[in-house]
Amino acid sequence: MDLSLAPAQEATRSAARAFADHELAPRAAEFERDERVPQAIYQKLAECGFMAMNAPEELGGSASGVVAYALSMMEIARGCAATAVTMAVTNMVGEVIARFGDDAQRRRFCPLLAGGRHGAFALSEVDAGSDPGGMRTRAVRDGDDWILDGTKQWISHGDSSAVLVVWARTGGEGPKGLSCFLVPEGTPGLEIDKHEDKMGLRASHTCALAFSDMRLPGDALLGEVGGGFPIAMMALDGGRIGIASQALGIGQAAHDAALAYLKAHPERAAEQDAQFLLADMRAQLDTGRLLVLRAALLKERHQPFSREASMAKLHATEGAFRVTQMALSLVGAEAESAAMPLERHMRDVRVTRIYEGTSEVQRIVIARHTLGA
Ligand SMILES: Cc1cc2nc3c(=O)[nH]c(=O)nc-3n(C[C@H](O)[C@H](O)[C@H](O)COP(=O)(O)OP(=O)(O)OC[C@H]3O[C@@H](n4cnc5c(N)ncnc54)[C@H](O)[C@@H]3O)c2cc1C
Repeated sequence: MDLSLAPAQEATRSAARAFADHELAPRAAEFERDERVPQAIYQKLAECGFMAMNAPEELGGSASGVVAYALSMMEIARGCAATAVTMAVTNMVGEVIARFGDDAQRRRFCPLLAGGRHGAFALSEVDAGSDPGGMRTRAVRDGDDWILDGTKQWISHGDSSAVLVVWARTGGEGPKGLSCFLVPEGTPGLEIDKHEDKMGLRASHTCALAFSDMRLPGDALLGEVGGGFPIAMMALDGGRIGIASQALGIGQAAHDAALAYLKAHPERAAEQDAQFLLADMRAQLDTGRLLVLRAALLKERHQPFSREASMAKLHATEGAFRVTQMALSLVGAEAESAAMPLERHMRDVRVTRIYEGTSEVQRIVIARHTLGA
C-alpha cells in the first residue's frame, strides 16, 4: 500500500502547517479571550485557498481534493480549533452548494465562501439533533415563493454567515418531507440570538436562529422539493472527515505540548508511565490519521465512503479526547494552568464527539452498513 503523498498534497499540508504555526497557534488563547477569530484570519485562509477546497476552480474554489483538505484541517486545528470549525463548516457548505446548487446559486454563493465569507449549516433544532427527521421548521408555498417559520439551535457562525443552508419541512412527517433552502444574510424575518457561552471552541460563535414569516423566492430551494434529507446525509458523510481531522489536530497539539514538557523535564521523561502514555498517544493519533486518510481517499475516488467516514470520526474523536487526557496526566498539575494550552485543548476536543453526529450515531451508521441494513 502506497502511503506517500502527492507533491501537491505535501505542498498544501506545508502551507497549512506554516499558517497554523505563524498565524494561529501564537494567538489562539487571545482569540479565545476575545471570543472571536478576526475576520482577517479567514481572509488570509481564503487567500491560501483553504475556504472552498472541494469546490471547482471556476467557482473560486481550490479543488485541492479530499486528502489535501483533511491534512490541512488537521494542521489548522492544531493551531486553533475554533478557526478550524469555521473552516470545516464553510468548506462543507461550499461543497453542498457546488454539488446541489443550480448554476445561479453556485455562481452567487461559492465565490463568496471561497473569498473568506462564512457559510452556515442550519440543520439542528432543540428536539432534532441526532434525528433530523423530527424537525419542526416548516416552509410552505405561497405562489412561487416559500414562507419559512421555525427555529434552529447550535448553528456555528450563524451570526456572521453570508449564506445559511437551512433545512425545513415542506411535506409530511419523517425524512422524506424535508427540503433545503439557501438563505442569504440580511433576509428579513431572521432573528439571530446571542452566541452560546460554551465550554470549548469559545472563539467560535454558536447561535440559535429564528425564522418568522420569512419570504424566500422560489429559487432559494436547493435541489428538489423533498430532497433535503439526502443532501444533509451526503454533506455530513463528508463533514465527518473534516471533524475527525479537526479532532486529530487538537490531539496532536496536546501531544506536542506534552512532548515539549517531557523535553524540558528529563526526570519525568525517564519514567516508564510517561513513556507508555507518550507511546499510546502517538499510536492513537497515527491510527486515527490512517482511518481519516482512507475515508478521504475513498471520497476523492468517488467510491462509497460513508461507513469509513463514520469509523474515522468515531475513532479519531474518541481517540483525540483520550490523547488529550493522557497529555494532562503526563504533565500533571501544571497542565491545569491557563498558561499551558492543554486545558484549552481539553475543552475544545470534547465537542468533536458530538457535532456532525455523536459517537452513538457513528456506531449506528457503522453497524447498519456492516449488517447490510
Ligand atoms: C459547538 C457546537 C456547534 C454545533 N454546530 C452545528 C451547526 O453548525 N449546524 C447544526 O445543524 N448543528 C450544530 N450543532 C448541533 C450538533 O450537531 C448536535 O448537538 C448533535 O447532532 C447532537 O444532537 P443533540 O445535541 O440534540 O443531542 P441528542 O440527539 O438529543 O442526543 C443526546 C444523547 O443521546 C444519544 N442518542 C441520540 N439518539 C440515539 C440513538 N438512536 N441511539 C443511541 N444513542 C442516541 C446521543 O448520542 C447523545 O449522547 C452544534 C453543536 C455544538 C455543541
